[in-house]
Amino acid sequence: MIKVVKFGGSSLASAEQFKKVVDIIKADEHRVYAVPSAPGKRFSGDAKVTDMLIHAYETAAEGKDYSGQLALIKDRFNDIIEGLGIKDFDLNDDFAEIDAMLKDDPQKDYTASRGEYLNGKILAKYLGWAFIDPKDVIFFNEEGNLNTYKTEKCLSQALKSNCPAVIPGFFGLGKDGNVKTFSRGGSDVTGSLVAQASKADVYENWTDVSGCLVADPRIVNNPEVIKYVTYRELRELSYMGATVLHENAIFPVRQSGIPINIKNTNSPLDEGTWIVESTCQKPAHTVTGIAGKKGFCSVLITKSMMNAEVGFGRKVLQAFEDNGISFEHMPSGIDTMTIVVHEDEFLHKEQAVVSAIHRLTNPDSIEIESDLALIAVVGRGMKSASGTAGKLFSALAEKKINIRMIDQGSSELNIIVGVENKDFEEAIKAIYNAFVKAD
Ligand code: ASP
Repeated sequence: MIKVVKFGGSSLASAEQFKKVVDIIKADEHRVYAVPSAPGKRFSGDAKVTDMLIHAYETAAEGKDYSGQLALIKDRFNDIIEGLGIKDFDLNDDFAEIDAMLKDDPQKDYTASRGEYLNGKILAKYLGWAFIDPKDVIFFNEEGNLNTYKTEKCLSQALKSNCPAVIPGFFGLGKDGNVKTFSRGGSDVTGSLVAQASKADVYENWTDVSGCLVADPRIVNNPEVIKYVTYRELRELSYMGATVLHENAIFPVRQSGIPINIKNTNSPLDEGTWIVESTCQKPAHTVTGIAGKKGFCSVLITKSMMNAEVGFGRKVLQAFEDNGISFEHMPSGIDTMTIVVHEDEFLHKEQAVVSAIHRLTNPDSIEIESDLALIAVVGRGMKSASGTAGKLFSALAEKKINIRMIDQGSSELNIIVGVENKDFEEAIKAIYNAFVKAD
């Protein structure tokens, strides 16, 4: 059995956290590939090393003196090395190299990636494991996307010949021969690639919470942890703003059928959340998770006999397409059609879109409403439960929250309701209380 373990920044922010990580790794002999992030925040208000590196790069790129910033970063790593009591080891040569790069040819991705690189070196040394440099095994193509074929080939070869091993997260090699990073939070992607290439049985993603929560803890007090969530449910929730994993981290493991287990470094015995393809584990509640976002607006187009007019919908969507705007939802009635879009994308193009709709479809009226928040109520259990929509609407009605839009996904996996921005938090609390607390 092979387990790939990825540790987030807060799990490796200090020597104390490093020790917890090493205890976790040593507690299970199947944990043979470790993917570290860069040191994150040690306390609230602290800086993440990746941010410090990016600032140092920006200073260097402006031709200003970055040496003080680099010295602070070096201190962060030295504190970890000292706190772990690692002898005969330092990062002086590495920092000399970073310094030389910043002086002669400052590169953003190279600089940003050094947090993971150096943390990986420390972890490998402390564990006595092999170190695999991602620039030798993870490759991007000319467009800047992952070269999946080459990566899987080289990565699986390297993992086979080096076991156990540490593989730093977040970066690989660009087509131009320079280090290239994934987007922020990209160590999750590296972990997923390592799991895929090593044909792992589990991808454990260690963080500082005991799994995915049913709702945002900034809105709902102490929400429950989701025990099992399917990839599809998670996709719906992430799309609506739940931040669990980097979006691109799902694909490689999903393709290989490897489950992800989100775990808490500070409370390792907690079961955490299992993210799986499919499960016969009954969901704890009809609703697996609730997530939402503010900042949408709706464009309501009315035309009598719209339903009989072939091609009407296509023409409306063409008006959006011609203006480069993607739409989020499209609930429709007999004589009405509503297009929901992101307000910030739409605002500066609204009049162009409205006139295009007029020109293309000759409607009776067009009404635009802004300050709309969307809330997705997601659950694989909804398909077989009756009365879900009724319960949802009465929970909102009881709180006198006006529902501005309803859209049930065709998969029966989610119901999306639109409310006014100002009702957003209250609506989420009401839905949580109705489905989770009352169950
Ligand atoms: N350290 C990187 C970031 O802060 C990547 C990661 O942590 O996953 O985005």
